[in-house]
Amino acid sequence: MTVRVLDEQDVRRLLPMGECIDVMAEALAALGRGEVHNPLRFVVRPPGEASLLGLMPAHRGGESPIWSLKTVAIFPGNSARGLDSHQGFVALFDGETGATRALLNAGAITAVRTAAVSGVATRLLAREDARTLAILGAGIQARSHLEAMRAVRDFDRVVVWSRTPGRIDDVEEVASAAEAVRDADVVVTATSAAEPILERAWLKPGVHINAVGSSIPTTRELDTATMRDAALFVDRRESTINEAGDFLFAQREGAIGPEHIRAEIGELLIGAGEGRRSAEELTVFKSLGLAVEDLAAAEHVVRRAEQENVGQVVSL
Ligand code: NDP
Repeated sequence: MTVRVLDEQDVRRLLPMGECIDVMAEALAALGRGEVHNPLRFVVRPPGEASLLGLMPAHRGGESPIWSLKTVAIFPGNSARGLDSHQGFVALFDGETGATRALLNAGAITAVRTAAVSGVATRLLAREDARTLAILGAGIQARSHLEAMRAVRDFDRVVVWSRTPGRIDDVEEVASAAEAVRDADVVVTATSAAEPILERAWLKPGVHINAVGSSIPTTRELDTATMRDAALFVDRRESTINEAGDFLFAQREGAIGPEHIRAEIGELLIGAGEGRRSAEELTVFKSLGLAVEDLAAAEHVVRRAEQENVGQVVSL
């Protein structure tokens, strides 16, 4: 059996943001149509351990069946070491035989596909006249989101707040999150914060928020009032009510329940859900990240790698 191995540079070159946005739109539409299988992820967190291991399997049947599994080790302290906090690989398996087809760098797939999904959500939900973008955080996701947001709206101004200043180039940095979001039409929260970094009172009417940084039940970035007042959109309902701290904290405080979710992004894409209702509405896209996104991104990269004969083909 031979397996194509694609490293970080291969993935980044073969998965340009604009292409990935279209690939993610198709993947989420397929999820909306029920064509793909995406179980809840399996997260291993030994007591007292700061790192975690996440297993994210997915399957697509039909004419070209395929299995995928992302194995991602998350080490929050890695940026101080100059390393990606998301280590690991995405494996693709032949849907007819189960043979392993490819192994791809998971950090690069995750960085690009997550921001691309926010790009899809922003294209659907942000006001057409959005001109100011605020990003909270300055890590890998923040940088990737800067590219994705610029791909879907024409921003005159980009403002960044980061706990540690000077980590991101080509933007205006400000001293507080409140100052960053004050004039923003689109906000991205992309930090590893455990407690809210964003407050409802700071937001202007009509803002769209992509809440990306918390993807586990025990942390959140948005305060309860923001979640309560927002029209809430998600990548997947079942994942949100089981895995999203931003949702679960607000629910525990009695502010919202599962019915507060207006639509999945895939439902919007296939015309089965309603999006923004007015220019003044506050919209939140709560991103958790889905295995079907990894499947679609990896499959796209492998298809291009086969065409261009990129990567190393090894026997397994
Ligand atoms: P990085 O380590 O590259 O960046 C983390 C950022 O968060 C840095 O700017 C860091 O600031 C900041 N930060 C950490 N703690 C705090 C805090 N208490 N208050 C304010 N800012 C803080 O990580 P990534 O960019 O790869 O990931 C960011 C978050 O997004 C993570 O929580 C990750 O789990 C999540 N994520 C979500 C995905 C999804 O699909 N929704 C996919 C991938 C990641 P400083 O420089 O000062 O440390």
